[in-house]
Amino acid sequence: MSESNPTTVAVCDFCSATESINWRYPCKDFDDKSAGWGSAGGWAACESCHHSIENGMWATIERRAKRGREAVWPLIAPSIRTMWAEFRRNRTGPAHFTGRETR
Ligand SMILES: [Zn+2]
Repeated sequence: MSESNPTTVAVCDFCSATESINWRYPCKDFDDKSAGWGSAGGWAACESCHHSIENGMWATIERRAKRGREAVWPLIAPSIRTMWAEFRRNRTGPAHFTGRETR
């Protein structure tokens, strides 16, 4: 996934939410050329996905990611699950808080 910068809208790399993108997970680059996808750099996560990732609640993340894409989900789910598995394997450390402090 790509590094966010001020000119692009932050999107959660897990569920595609565009709000509360407060976390970034460091991750090694990986790609699967046979499948035609890959990942470069860290993964952005919204507040909800961060909570789910920290608690290993991948079924909850999948429910959120599926929202609005029910029609194509059976087609894309295998790739997405593989991506997440690769993310878990290639993740290099704890999440960094990148959002705005609310305290
Ligand atoms: Zn999310």
